[in-house]
Amino acid sequence: MNRFDFIRPANIAEAVTAAAVPGSVYLAAGTNLLDLMKIGVTRPERVIDISRLPGLDRIEWLSDGSVRIGALMRNADLAYDTRFAATYPAIAEALLSGASAQLRNAATVGGNLLQRTRCAYFQDTASACNRREPGSGCDALHGENRLHAVLGWSEQCIATHPSDFCVPLAALGAVIEIEGVGGRRDIPIESLHSLPDASRALESTLAPGDFITGLRLPPEAASFAGNARYVKLRERTSYAFAVVSAAAMLDMDGDTIRASRLAIGAVAAKPWRAHEAEAVLVGQKAGREIFEKAATAALADARPSGDNAFKITLAHRILVRALMLAYEGTPKVMPALPASPFPEQHLSAPKADLHVA
Ligand SMILES: Cc1cc2nc3c(=O)[nH]c(=O)nc-3n(C[C@H](O)[C@H](O)[C@H](O)COP(=O)(O)OP(=O)(O)OC[C@H]3O[C@@H](n4cnc5c(N)ncnc54)[C@H](O)[C@@H]3O)c2cc1C
Ligand code: SF4
Repeated sequence: MNRFDFIRPANIAEAVTAAAVPGSVYLAAGTNLLDLMKIGVTRPERVIDISRLPGLDRIEWLSDGSVRIGALMRNADLAYDTRFAATYPAIAEALLSGASAQLRNAATVGGNLLQRTRCAYFQDTASACNRREPGSGCDALHGENRLHAVLGWSEQCIATHPSDFCVPLAALGAVIEIEGVGGRRDIPIESLHSLPDASRALESTLAPGDFITGLRLPPEAASFAGNARYVKLRERTSYAFAVVSAAAMLDMDGDTIRASRLAIGAVAAKPWRAHEAEAVLVGQKAGREIFEKAATAALADARPSGDNAFKITLAHRILVRALMLAYEGTPKVMPALPASPFPEQHLSAPKADLHVA
């Protein structure tokens, strides 16, 4: 049994002060943290329970057209909020494609952002892993690595970030609100997760004590509601992490793409925003040909990190598929979901080509 202190702060300031002490970790719903503590991957000296802090479990619609989501909001509550799901359907679709109903009912928004990698060597304390033990090596490099990264990896670490939720958030340019020892600051989600460099395998850019209080979606994120999809390819249809996923969103002017937002999941240590691909699409007539070009641009720098070249082909196909589906328009009912956030507006029969993997 690993002994640790358990601290329940009364407010955010107390939480930050407590967590700034080395060896501390925040506890939200614990669906990731407690699993890792049980298998000895994480051995904190102090667990700071933030789950009962008031005021962080809600959506606020702001007057400038943006929306703020509190860090302690449950994944399911967010996905089933009718206004939220109608405004950001790809986010609702991503949330509902993750984990199981029970987990989504418990898991928080902040915890989802900071969940740890699912690399099997990270979870096996007998293996060398630079993330778990900096400088120890990376057993995945010459091991079972078919699900590992194809973008942004280094020999330090080839793990992927497993979140579904983070993929449309990256596409839509979410802003993360942080309370730290030095006060409050905002960072774009693209700066939250780290890519491994030649010497280190850091997971996030957060400093000790940094507390995610919530996130905001900028006003323009709402303009993609009519043509937005999240497509997740996994090894079974529920309760599985993505092999590859993609969020695709289009702002259409007739058949012409006014703006687009694209991100790929499970291909890198962070949700991968595909800026180059977005640039390819702007001002073009929508259709398979230009979507193929965009997918090629998105994956131009992809390279296998092991036995996973297939993921590059797969990511290309998933991106094209997500773009085709987004172009068709956001459906009133999403066929792949176990429960749709749009229950009143059932299509009589889902179109065959709307079926998601
Ligand atoms: C069997 C299983 C299947 C799953 N499948 C999927 C899936 O398909 N897709 C998917 O996206 N996810 C999946 N998940 C992951 C799940 O979504 C995460 O475990 C969950 O979102 C974490 O939220 P939590 O509140 O439980 O976080 P916790 O476990 O409490 O915390 C996770 C990490 O975040 C830190 N943390 C939490 N909140 C904050 C905060 N506000 N500020 C700073 N740090 C914080 C904690 O210190 C910890 O390091 C699965 C999990 C399980 C167990
Ligand atoms: S890929 Fe990353 S998480 Fe997996 S063993 Fe290597 S260093 Fe650890």
